[in-house]
Amino acid sequence: MRCPSCGSLDTQVKDSRPTEDSAVIRRRRVCLTCNFRFTTFERVQLRELTVIKRNGRRVPFDRDKLMRSVQIALRKRSVDPERIEQTVSKIVRELESLGESEVTSETIGETVMEHLRALDDVAYVRFASVYRNFREAKDFETFLGQLSDDEGGAKEGAKESTEAPAGARK
Ligand SMILES: [Zn+2]
Repeated sequence: MRCPSCGSLDTQVKDSRPTEDSAVIRRRRVCLTCNFRFTTFERVQLRELTVIKRNGRRVPFDRDKLMRSVQIALRKRSVDPERIEQTVSKIVRELESLGESEVTSETIGETVMEHLRALDDVAYVRFASVYRNFREAKDFETFLGQLSDDEGGAKEGAKESTEAPAGARK
């Protein structure tokens, strides 16, 4: 594994430990040239996925990118990073298990929403509002209305998140 700091290939594993119920192995590594410490993750990949974007372009599925959008939706929410990792793993596992090597960005968006909803109401609304690209405040309010109809307790989260889309778009 190449050192991300100095580029040396002379790196060593200091310690390995399973996380997420042994679905992931986390390895702490150290660069023997510059002493930089970093972490790598080893996960099962069931299938190579290609994303079909709305404009028809195909790009390789990127777990890190998915993680970033989930993290943006969860910004300043107190959710355990381990639970976030687990959620992203569940999303990826679900996409890989669809049985297709190509998956639309729409399917990914819907899957992410489903899982965020279970994780954190506010993150769910943030993600959904960006994903569904609400142009009019009215659409957004209708959507929030649906949310609080579905889940009695969602009101507080929905209220707090009305200001979120601007921040989440950065
Ligand atoms: Zn190095």
